[in-house]
Amino acid sequence: MRRLLIATTNPGKQREYRRLLTGLDAEIVTPEDIGLSLVVEEPYETYEENARTKAEAYARASGLLALADDSGIEVAALDWGPGVRSARWGQGRNAERVLEALGEGADRRARMVCAVAVAAPDGERVDIEVFRAVVDGSIAREPRGSGGFGYDPVFRLPSGVTTAELPEAEKDAISHRGRAVAAAHETLARLVAEGS
Ligand code: IMP
Repeated sequence: MRRLLIATTNPGKQREYRRLLTGLDAEIVTPEDIGLSLVVEEPYETYEENARTKAEAYARASGLLALADDSGIEVAALDWGPGVRSARWGQGRNAERVLEALGEGADRRARMVCAVAVAAPDGERVDIEVFRAVVDGSIAREPRGSGGFGYDPVFRLPSGVTTAELPEAEKDAISHRGRAVAAAHETLARLVAEGS
């Protein structure tokens, strides 16, 4: 069975990809599973370029089909940032940072964005495809829910619940990541079938 490397060390993302990729006829492995430790810079201004760079680096280092994810939150009151800088900006306390940054009367509209890059090594070459998806919502007044990770406790969907309040399968069905994987699925299935 072909192995598919989830090119991230973020445990929240790893958990979600293990769920999202269950329909695929591939063995899902993480960098830890294969003893790979890689530091990849994310210097770009777009999710797509960052995801592409991560996927290529992991595919070259492992020789495996690799899937990388670059994602972030965009908030109207923060000039639609922090965007690609969401991880650094959050300083390990993402939800609290957003709440602190938004004063009374702030424009709380927000969206979560995810770019998924799939990199297939082929000799010296690496073929890369990128898929992007967005989910619209707003920033809640206070954190709610214990599911998910990162900004989930403060990311409120139009239905009124935060993505941290959703059962896993429901977050997967509507999230930026779930939608990006759905868009990538046909490509992934083809690459998995082609590989040895
Ligand atoms: P990066 O993609 O590793 O650069 O980091 C993305 C940032 O957005 C991290 O701070 C994550 O915690 C956060 N993030 C990414 N996806 C989600 C999600 O599904 N829910 C909540 N926060 C997320």
